[in-house]
Amino acid sequence: MSQIFTGNFTQQEPLPEESIEAAVAVMRHGRLHRYNLSDGEKGETALLEEEFAAFTGAKYCLAVASGGYALAAALRAAGVQAGDVVLTNAFTLAPVPGAIANAGGTPVFVEVTDDLVMDLDDLKAKIAQTNARYLMLSHMRGHIVDMDALMQICDRAGVKVVEDCAHTMGAAWNGVPSGRHGVAGCYSTQTFKHLNSGEGGFLVTDDAELAARAIMLSGSYMLFERHTAGPPPEVFAQIKLETPNCSGRMDNLRAAILRPQLRKLPDQCAAWNARYQRVEAGLANTPGVKVIERPEAESYVMSSFQFLCPDFTSTQMIDLQKRTAARGVELKWFGADTPVGFTSRHDSWQYVAAQTLPQTDRILAGLMDMRLPLTFSLEDCDLIAQIIREEVGILHQAG
Ligand SMILES: *Cc1c(COP(=O)(O)O)cnc(C)c1O
Repeated sequence: MSQIFTGNFTQQEPLPEESIEAAVAVMRHGRLHRYNLSDGEKGETALLEEEFAAFTGAKYCLAVASGGYALAAALRAAGVQAGDVVLTNAFTLAPVPGAIANAGGTPVFVEVTDDLVMDLDDLKAKIAQTNARYLMLSHMRGHIVDMDALMQICDRAGVKVVEDCAHTMGAAWNGVPSGRHGVAGCYSTQTFKHLNSGEGGFLVTDDAELAARAIMLSGSYMLFERHTAGPPPEVFAQIKLETPNCSGRMDNLRAAILRPQLRKLPDQCAAWNARYQRVEAGLANTPGVKVIERPEAESYVMSSFQFLCPDFTSTQMIDLQKRTAARGVELKWFGADTPVGFTSRHDSWQYVAAQTLPQTDRILAGLMDMRLPLTFSLEDCDLIAQIIREEVGILHQAG
């Protein structure tokens, strides 16, 4: 009898008790709006911003309503105007081109490599073709491109980089935290990311003007001085009159449940990586499977797992998905013609002009993806890898 896995791929851990107590305290006093403060009180949201700025080493931090909001606000605050080209990854999730559209920009996609990172040759080609001045770099599924090489290309070409760190909170490249290479880094605290407040996000930057614009955009009214992780008041002198209020603030309830989680984040990251490495070891040397090589300079945080079946046909990919699902292992396939659940492809974002991305299409056709929530034990990870290995083996031999 073949073994079946019975875990739930979308079940996150409960929130820590400190988070629950902090949430109850906010509900008891009732001051949920970030600017609703008692005398001398900084408030949970401003304190969280101070702590997240310290965690990333950034000068300024703004907490907002979602990761997607942070991305759009970062682009606007960095200067994107209606119609400007914004380069981005062809392999990413829908909120990334969505944020570019929200900021009025025109997404132009850059090919992905077999290592699931942005193709730097195609990046150079697309910069030359479009004269783009902005890149929204998505560290999709936690895979970090050679950031030294990427920043050299972008700095030389005068391209401003906004990093989408929805999957790299806590990660680093060559010791520099993810989100600290470009002009701004954006993070999500939505339930399926590395911190969980249901919805939420952060923007970090060292650029005082960018920070001031983002704070005004987020809906600070003339209360920007309550942002203790923001730039000094003189930076706002003109910006406060020029920048629209596009409400997207975080509230004190979410901030309260995030602060204890942030303190635990390094331990959580280690726990995710332990799970990732068990699956990686379990799939190593499986005929038909290519696991992603991780560069030395990359300190990753992997809350999900990706592998390629480069020689499989679409029919085999669908069969693999069905066969593993029958044994309790939920794989997402990025090659499907129609978008499913959270998974979609560049050609499903039809508000963007159709683009030809043969390399990305070839890679996504063989790409499987799965979540690794912390509710899985290390033994669960061994069983998951075993099931995948067995089912790939059957199809590989038959194929
Ligand atoms: C989740 C996600 C976002 C957006 O985060 P939200 O908080 O859901 O808006 C952006 N980029 C990627 C790659 C994501 O997975």
